[in-house]
Amino acid sequence: MLRIECPYCGPRDHDEFRYGGDASVIRPVHDDADFEAWYRYVFVRENPAGPHREYWQHVMGCRQWLVVGRDTRNHEISFARSAREARA
Ligand SMILES: [Zn+2]
Repeated sequence: MLRIECPYCGPRDHDEFRYGGDASVIRPVHDDADFEAWYRYVFVRENPAGPHREYWQHVMGCRQWLVVGRDTRNHEISFARSAREARA
């Protein structure tokens, strides 16, 4: 079982969270007409063996979106911070 340290609620089981996808992907600007950029944003993902940045939402708690650093080999959580702060 994973334990995620929510910056608002403290440590919680991962059952309280919902996985939200790869946090390392950069969304193209709204009016970007480059089909290839949108294709990569929507469909193409890395499958890393090692450290990975992911979005998680604390759906059974504060409902905030977090950026979580998780090692895909052993599920070790290296950090969890507010997605707002991570974006800034
Ligand atoms: Zn929370």
